[in-house]
Amino acid sequence: MYDVNSKCADDFINHEEILETLAYADENKENVALIDAIIEKAKKRKGLSHREASVLLACPIEEKNQEIYKLAEQIKKDFYGNRIVMFAPLYLSNYCVNGCTYCPYHAKNKHIPRKQLSQEDIRREVIALQDMGHKRLALEAGEDPVRNTMDYYLKSIETIYSIKHKNGAIRRVNINMAATTVDNYRLLKEAGIGTYILFQETYHKESYLELHPTGPKHDYNYHTEAMDRAMEGGIDDVGLGVLFGLDKYRYEFAGLLMHAEHLEAAFGVGPHTISVPRLKHADDINPDDFNNGIDDDTFAKIVACIRIAVPYTGMIISTRENQKTRERVLHLGISQISGGSRTSVGGYCEPEPDDAKSEQFDVSDTRTLDEVVRWLMEMEYIPSFCTACYREGRTGDRFMSLCKSGQIQNCCHPNALMTLKEYLMDYASLETKAIGDKLIEKEVLNVPNEKARAVVLENLRLIEHDNRRDFRF
Ligand code: SAM
Repeated sequence: MYDVNSKCADDFINHEEILETLAYADENKENVALIDAIIEKAKKRKGLSHREASVLLACPIEEKNQEIYKLAEQIKKDFYGNRIVMFAPLYLSNYCVNGCTYCPYHAKNKHIPRKQLSQEDIRREVIALQDMGHKRLALEAGEDPVRNTMDYYLKSIETIYSIKHKNGAIRRVNINMAATTVDNYRLLKEAGIGTYILFQETYHKESYLELHPTGPKHDYNYHTEAMDRAMEGGIDDVGLGVLFGLDKYRYEFAGLLMHAEHLEAAFGVGPHTISVPRLKHADDINPDDFNNGIDDDTFAKIVACIRIAVPYTGMIISTRENQKTRERVLHLGISQISGGSRTSVGGYCEPEPDDAKSEQFDVSDTRTLDEVVRWLMEMEYIPSFCTACYREGRTGDRFMSLCKSGQIQNCCHPNALMTLKEYLMDYASLETKAIGDKLIEKEVLNVPNEKARAVVLENLRLIEHDNRRDFRF
């Protein structure tokens, strides 16, 4: 039975509840009075239930969809301003014992080169990432209990945080790794991880079992209940996601929101982020072999509906998407994007030969970080390298209260400007720097509190003239 508070995946992601939700959405998708009422509720910026949001997602009425897009854009502006947080993935290892049918790291793939970075390799990769200007990483790895042990992860995190190369530093390490135990989550928390990310892949249990035929990931309940264990282990920033293309998107959308509702109900804090990856071509994986691919319009609608359903949750888009798609969804709710990414193990130091690639999927946006930063600024976004919340202990519900307090503009906005300034001083091309300096000059005026504005101006001066770094509110 559906129970948002239950600790059992079959209850909080209840199949019958999803089917009823989809039937309700179908019945009401052209019910203008109901749709108007849901949009009015969404305008209060307190979110929507999975049922309400599913009605909006199903709605085919063009005029109403335009209202949904407009509201998503407005909510995005209200909560995140024009800041976009930057990050890069770092692949530690592609050894994997699972049989995921959509991922080229599946254990039966005998021709993909298998690699695991040594601590020395990690040093080199991190220096390359620091030299690009990155401050925030998402660690990625396959599941291999013998090779990719908890000790290996902990040592790797320690290594990454310890590297100080020129003015560089990795200030926040997020991690996307297989579901594990409460004790291991506790160890990750102690090691100083930011967000624990785990994609559900699909919420449809029957499909999940088929798509993950072998290996520990086959256990749907253990995987789906991972965020509960992470929270019990003290990690209060967790990142959800589904891999769109595996099952029907409306089913996934309802499941995703039910998962968010469950975390909020059971732990008092919803997901810190939601990622929206789409299935991509990769080594021996052909997305056409899967029947549930979604087009760009549907993708944009999903992003907009997530934005208004969970206004406090950050939304992440990776370089799986090309520039054009990224541009479209940035307006509709995305708050974090990667740039200059490599999805191969060791790819930041050494480009791999064409016949021996360890990539997890093809990257569609192949621009450098400098190009991505410039492109964002040309659209009047502020690329932010800020990691302050996590380092000031503003995680979980404390981060949410910052969002709700309306102090973001006096806090996140200055932090974005100061970290962008660091980037411009240390890593940007001359052209990017010129655009960025102008943007900062203009945007500093948008810090509402006079005192805060004065501090920001002084810090910007110290960054530029005294080579000082790492200011934060
Ligand atoms: N092994 C971990 C796990 O079990 O979740 C870490 C995940 S993996 C390194 C990161 C994510 O890449 C997966 O969760 C999956 O959603 C995504 N992925 C796998 N194959 C993909 C493909 N062909 N196209 C796009 N994304 C893919």
